[in-house]
Amino acid sequence: MKHLSKLPNIETTIFTVMSGLANKHEAINLSQGFPNFKSDQKLIDLVSKAMNSGYNQYALMPGNMELREAIAKKFDLLYGSSYHPESEITITAGATQAIYDVITAFVRADDEVIIFKPAYDCYEPSIQINGGKPVSIQLKAPNYQVDWEEMKQKISSKTKMIIINTPHNPSGTIFSEADMLKLQEITKNTNIIVLSDEVYEHIVFDGEKHQSACLFPDLKSRSFITASFGKTFHNTGWKTGYCCAPKELMEEFRKIHQFNVFSVNHPVQKGLADYMQDPNTYLGLSEFFQEKRDLFLSLIIDSRFKFKPSQGTYFQVLDYSKITQEYDVDYAKRLTIENGLASIPLSVFNDNQLDNKVLRFCFAKTDDTLKKAGDILNEI
Ligand code: PMP
Ligand code: GLN
Repeated sequence: MKHLSKLPNIETTIFTVMSGLANKHEAINLSQGFPNFKSDQKLIDLVSKAMNSGYNQYALMPGNMELREAIAKKFDLLYGSSYHPESEITITAGATQAIYDVITAFVRADDEVIIFKPAYDCYEPSIQINGGKPVSIQLKAPNYQVDWEEMKQKISSKTKMIIINTPHNPSGTIFSEADMLKLQEITKNTNIIVLSDEVYEHIVFDGEKHQSACLFPDLKSRSFITASFGKTFHNTGWKTGYCCAPKELMEEFRKIHQFNVFSVNHPVQKGLADYMQDPNTYLGLSEFFQEKRDLFLSLIIDSRFKFKPSQGTYFQVLDYSKITQEYDVDYAKRLTIENGLASIPLSVFNDNQLDNKVLRFCFAKTDDTLKKAGDILNEI
């Protein structure tokens, strides 16, 4: 049978490739972003309890109401921002599904969507499958700052959406308040929708504050915020997340959501709802991961890798240009096979595979794993 691929240029994701290689070669896996420690036993018990007490049939289409209420409370507590649980919050199968459905609900053939490179890998194919056109802006290493004048130039009558991601995967940078104000100013009086991917909202370092789109009223009025419980509560395999948006936007989102997935894992939602009653479950995350970042960086301070400490996320990028000029994908594979340490090459997220000789390492790992990884990096 012959058929034309709808996504001819898309290959298996780098996360699957590198984790596969790490497993094959029994390498320490700092590539794909997931913790190698258990999530809180209390949360696991609450999900088991939910299963045992009958939360085993379909949840409501937009999600378990107690969980939506807990999310609304969190927005109020952290940002003084209100989202109505009934009409403005939807629980999704991870942030990936939320992102896909936001794009599918609004992007039509030939619409343009502005993305910043390096960009998380699910944005572009989700735009393309809907006939949209990704318009990318390449951020420059090592600071990955947005030039808002350049971004203004990229806006056209066809611009439907802008996707931002702070804290940023893979670079570990964050948007400042000034960045968000610029974005708000540029989009004011337009019909542009903003997709603000905030999956690492609880992982921001050095006393900085997460600049959520909901903190900026005009921005909030045009934004979807997408979030991931997997990233927040150390259980990426549960694939549960959510998104928030003003009612009129959320209505369109739910038209897609209900036929894409309808509703998501009910006992996990109930367990999360009970767990989130205590805000300390997410308030201590920045401190927890900052210790991991600092441990990792202290271990490799004398190595030949160059770095700027990550400002957020649980990723640290390392520049290896003093060591070799190899293409980053080749070097990441060689490090995995020959040195037993897997990472993610950044070029795969860049325009035209721009190679700045930078690899991304995930430090959501036990201290023991980080020490072993540090030993390897020091020997290189
Ligand atoms: N956006 C970014 C920036 C991510 O790093 C990830 C991976 N967690 C996602 C979206 C997808 O999140 P999820 O695993 O909840 O689908
Ligand atoms: N978000 C994870 C990362 O950046 C990977 C998720 C995935 O494997 N699709 O590593």
